[in-house]
Amino acid sequence: MTRDPIADLRRIAFLLERANEATYRVRAFRSAASALAALPAAEVAQRARAGKLTELAGVGDVTARCVAESLAGEEPVYLRRLLATEGTDLDAEASRLRAALRGDCHTHSDWSDGGSPIEEMALAAVELGHEYLVLTDHSPRLKVARGLTADRLRRQLDHVAQLNEALPEGFRILTGIEVDILADGSLDQAEELLARLDVVVGSVHSGLNDDRAKMTRRMLTAVANPHLDILGHCTGRMVSSRPAGVTGPGDRGHRARTRPESDFDADAVFAACVEHRTAVEINSRPERQDPPKRLIRRALEAGCLFAIDTDAHAPGQLDWQRFGCERAARCGVPADRVINTWTAEDLIAWTTP
Ligand SMILES: [Zn+2]
Ligand SMILES: [Zn+2]
Repeated sequence: MTRDPIADLRRIAFLLERANEATYRVRAFRSAASALAALPAAEVAQRARAGKLTELAGVGDVTARCVAESLAGEEPVYLRRLLATEGTDLDAEASRLRAALRGDCHTHSDWSDGGSPIEEMALAAVELGHEYLVLTDHSPRLKVARGLTADRLRRQLDHVAQLNEALPEGFRILTGIEVDILADGSLDQAEELLARLDVVVGSVHSGLNDDRAKMTRRMLTAVANPHLDILGHCTGRMVSSRPAGVTGPGDRGHRARTRPESDFDADAVFAACVEHRTAVEINSRPERQDPPKRLIRRALEAGCLFAIDTDAHAPGQLDWQRFGCERAARCGVPADRVINTWTAEDLIAWTTP
């Protein structure tokens, strides 16, 4: 079947507009459509074959990919995703997703850079109706965030075991860490401890400007590590300054500034996540919104699992899952692909190699 790539681009723009997506995103598809409409169809096809579409002003990686798929007679993945969510009430879909979540896999306490004791975080999670809260304080190298040494983490594990005795039936704190992915892709904590923890979130917090090849290698190494369960805020971007009302010691390390996405081969990293059973985090923090929706769609298409987490540094922030659910719903992420819709038992069975 032959398809008209320009019509596909315009259709995508229309659906994005109707879904009230950001103007710049719509414009990317409209300008690409105009740029291609100005050329003979044969030239468009020839440029697509040679991988030279992006040399045209107004055509970027995402739009060029759509054109290539379209010319190959396939419905562009981007369009397919938009059509899959079309006509669904996104608010209702986001609410359903939120209601399906049983816990949160990325949270901090005052043991690292959070603002509240573990117990207060846990009680807030109980209030929200969660069945579990994974405590993921930072690892040693993140000194600005008072990352836990191996000894402090061991003490925290004992403390959590005690707290769990006293918490309400049907709720538990699961042990975990947000471990730094170091420059060589290794994880910043003793192997024996990583093996002992229920859930390991791994994030890049340093060298975010590494070049594409280095960052890709770094992430691939981390994802292949059998202890890594969730790849945290994978692009490291900051889209806005700290939201209003979020101040104080609870947010050291989340300073007010914007930061571009790290550059890495997302398709390679997501394929590795599928192969090594590592979930991709959808970070709900308003200033992060990481990964961006285009990458959530790519990860979904690749077959990845997700974790919709708050990265809460204070009890009230545990309610931010709603933001992640909205973004996931817009990308058509189904509940059964989200690991924190699972019970604690299923989650632990999955994280245990
Ligand atoms: Zn982090
Ligand atoms: Zn965090």
